[in-house]
Amino acid sequence: MNLPVLPTALLPRVYELTPDELAAWCRSHGATPYRVDQIRKWIFGKRITDFAEMHDLPAALRQALAAEFSLFPAEVVRHQVSADRTEKLLLKLDDGEFVECVLMREEDRRTICLSTQVGCAMGCVFCASGMLGVKRNLTTGEILEQVLRLDRLLPLAERITNVVIMGIGEPLANLKNLLPALDSLNLKGGMGIGARRITISTVGLPDRIRELALTDRQYNLAVSLHAPNDELRTKLVPVNKNIGIDEILAAADYHFQKTGRRVTYEYVLLSGVNDRPEHAQQLAGLLKPRIAHVNLIPMNGVTELPFVEPTAPRTQDFLSILKQFGIPCSVRKRKGADIDAACGQLRLQAEGRGA
Ligand code: SAH
Repeated sequence: MNLPVLPTALLPRVYELTPDELAAWCRSHGATPYRVDQIRKWIFGKRITDFAEMHDLPAALRQALAAEFSLFPAEVVRHQVSADRTEKLLLKLDDGEFVECVLMREEDRRTICLSTQVGCAMGCVFCASGMLGVKRNLTTGEILEQVLRLDRLLPLAERITNVVIMGIGEPLANLKNLLPALDSLNLKGGMGIGARRITISTVGLPDRIRELALTDRQYNLAVSLHAPNDELRTKLVPVNKNIGIDEILAAADYHFQKTGRRVTYEYVLLSGVNDRPEHAQQLAGLLKPRIAHVNLIPMNGVTELPFVEPTAPRTQDFLSILKQFGIPCSVRKRKGADIDAACGQLRLQAEGRGA
């Protein structure tokens, strides 16, 4: 039977298949399933960019792979390198949509930040990613392509050590495609990135947090709290209206009970909005009974938005109040400020240009 030849961009990414699915594919092509380990090793471990480089596979199998699958169908439309060596890729997908992903370097850490959706439906008022709403979920393959492309920016001796799902989109709204991608990084013959080095950041969707807890994975949970009371939080994070902080904290507690992993609460500091001493005290009151860590994020300026970060002393005051209450906390270091590395900004520019 002659199948129509699809343009490469429309062929499925080979790493979108689970090892079992790939084994079935191998069998259907007369190859033994142990080829799966070889194929995955080439992709996840040896950073090949073409099926032809899979030297230990029979030529016919390589050709079959190349005929039926793609490897890197997205187009890199921008690759920025900042003064601190943070690198950011803007990828154009098959349907012309854009996503961003980032590689950050810090001493012996190599952390990547991934997107999970095209745009975001949550509408947080200080965030660039949600300004155009959400278009669609990313597929498992599109999430993994970000990882593999960032991995190929590293020299041979270096490896990705940490993964944060803090790019464009609400990851828990796309768990069904995200989890297989993360599992693939964990699996033997995958990238060997331990679950405890992977952090999923959420706006705080209680049902989804519980669902994640029930999957028995050891991924870290980060909750974007941003305000210590519902009145203020609903102004900053509109989806809070129908959820409420109590529900979110209860779900995060459940995640902690199930996984034993300390929850991180993210708090973006917006000058004159949520950075008063009373806010810090109220936040400490919420978290005091819990095993939690607070990550203060100074607002990353977005041209179109009116919010700015507080002065350094004001940020330090907020931090010291939390410390006085015994809450473990830190201020996030800014990375790649000179390349608009706060996720969503490049995509916004690209959409504006109609690139
Ligand atoms: N939807 C997920 C992932 C978002 S990005 C979530 O809400 O957690 C990761 C973090 O960056 C979130 O805490 C998000 O609120 C924060 N963030 C978004 N825009 C920002 C900005 N302009 N400056 C600083 N942090 C921002």
